[in-house]
Amino acid sequence: MALLQIAEPGAVAQEPASRKLALGIDLGTTNSLVAHVSDGDVKVLPDGSGNVCLPSVVHFGAEGTLVGSAAEALAVSAPHDTIASAKRYLGRSREELAADSYTKLAESGLAFETSQGPVTPVEVSAALLGALRDRALSSLDMPIAGAVITVPAYFDDAQRLATRQAAELSGLNVLRLLNEPTAAAVAYGLDSGEEGVVAVYDLGGGTFDVSILRLERGVFEVLATGGDSSLGGDDFDQRIVTLLRDEASLHSLSVAQERALLRCARSAKEALTIASEIEVQLDSIISGFGAVTVTRQAFNSACADLVNRSLDACRQCVADAGVSQIDQIVLVGGSTRMPIIGEVVAALFGKEPLNSIDPDRVVAMGAARQADLLIGNRDAEDLLLLDVIPLSLGVETYGGLVERIVPRNTTIPVARAQEFTTAKDGQTGLIVHVVQGERERVEDCRSLATFELEGIPPMVAGAARLEVTFQVDADGLLEVKAQEATTQATASVVVKPAFGLAEDDIATMLRAGYEHASEDMHARQLAEAKVEAEQLVAGIRAAVTSDGDLLSGTEHEALMTAVNDLVDASQGNNIESLRKAIEVTGRASELLAARRMDRSIKSALGGISVATLEGEAES
Ligand code: ADP
Ligand code: MG
Repeated sequence: MALLQIAEPGAVAQEPASRKLALGIDLGTTNSLVAHVSDGDVKVLPDGSGNVCLPSVVHFGAEGTLVGSAAEALAVSAPHDTIASAKRYLGRSREELAADSYTKLAESGLAFETSQGPVTPVEVSAALLGALRDRALSSLDMPIAGAVITVPAYFDDAQRLATRQAAELSGLNVLRLLNEPTAAAVAYGLDSGEEGVVAVYDLGGGTFDVSILRLERGVFEVLATGGDSSLGGDDFDQRIVTLLRDEASLHSLSVAQERALLRCARSAKEALTIASEIEVQLDSIISGFGAVTVTRQAFNSACADLVNRSLDACRQCVADAGVSQIDQIVLVGGSTRMPIIGEVVAALFGKEPLNSIDPDRVVAMGAARQADLLIGNRDAEDLLLLDVIPLSLGVETYGGLVERIVPRNTTIPVARAQEFTTAKDGQTGLIVHVVQGERERVEDCRSLATFELEGIPPMVAGAARLEVTFQVDADGLLEVKAQEATTQATASVVVKPAFGLAEDDIATMLRAGYEHASEDMHARQLAEAKVEAEQLVAGIRAAVTSDGDLLSGTEHEALMTAVNDLVDASQGNNIESLRKAIEVTGRASELLAARRMDRSIKSALGGISVATLEGEAES
């Protein structure tokens, strides 16, 4: 599973006999960049025309492959051969690939159908990385020893693996995949600065990531990550498209016209960063249409919900991190150029964000610094980048519920133990089902492993003491161990987290967790009430079997009626009536419980009644 990603400590210290060239690459959804360190300075490399941003677009035409703006220019005329935003589909399932509206999917469902045949997202990414590698080779004329490639903090193992595969395919030696927010913090030199908590707000073209990092004694720790993998500048472009369509009453456009309109909208959006009002010429898209005016104010209000979604994710992430104070805020991603973003972020955190480094370049620059360190050009400092568990780990408990043992965003390595007990009288075995996810019910989570602990001495329900330990080591390996206290009987399982989420997606699971929170809460309460009812019924039946003679005929009948009503109520899904039945039955059983108590005390004290005993104590 991807979940347990850890960034290993800095490279093995090496004498910088001769400097090696190591690249920092920001493989973005929208734009990709390459940087390197030279004479202690980080330089972002431009292409032949002076552009540092390589549009993450590849054209797979019959005549050959084009990358970057040359490919972007063909997006309108050859939409099916021109793949943009491929990063969105790296390591994703066929359903997610099918959601792309512009490109045709190949038969396999896992590739785009182009004039060159099926092309996978990994191949698209490899073409981009190859172009950046060539850019570095031609401008620096030095062999490339390795590269640090950045990935969104949200990327799961499948997505990280796909990124590594793309790098291998392009002939790059990957020194490390680095989380983008961490790279940004490194670019600002926060790793060597004062201790404190840093929030990184990254609004790019296709994704929004927010991360809370803590720097302490030279150790950089990712406290929490969050965001929205389907929120980015593209969505803001769409809002302008909608404004233009409404304003000019544009209907039924061809694919090519839609793409042209989208490009037009993006330019308009970027222009609105500086201008408070702009004119968009639609004539080139559909003849006969003139200019439409868009104001920044209209744009801001059309995007208010998008902005708020990012702020919600920020609040959630701060809560996950459990910090009370944020010392620095870093803005990352081209979309943070929109003035509204700086304003709302400053208002949310009550502090002006850092923005002195170009938000487009900051990630590649941090990656270059990290690459320079890893390749051995600098004395390896104790730069340790800890990572977190992106999805909670837990076990299944009675009633199909999940008990979380290691909550998401816990930093690794970590060891957590929790005590459990048996649910049934005489239970001698326990099946430990290890699950992962944010949902309350096992069926909604991901199953990781199952093992059985045998040899529990038969005891009444609730008497056995079973300790379940979760241990995640620095390599992300999860070991779950269960031990019974009296016999020391032990069973365990080791899960190799790297083989987990082949087709799954952390972001989807997290989203499902939030979306179903109240429904899950209800399901948990209902399941818990059912377990409670079941235990109450079993307890009463056992008591009646052994001491039923303590009740008169009518008393017995009244108790059994309450029990039967409770059994009926626990078949249904009405939590209110179930709770009521539990209460009624509980009260109906008090009489028998009191008499049994009296009987057992009497027998223990050899016939002295409770009343007598109390009387003696008083005198
Ligand atoms: P990614 O990390 O997803 O590749 P980037 O950080 O390169 O994305 O950001 C790309 C996004 O930034 C695009 O949506 C682009 O329109 C937007 N962007 C770039 N410059 C500006 C600007 N001046 N104003 C508003 N948005 C901008
Ligand atoms: Mg980015």
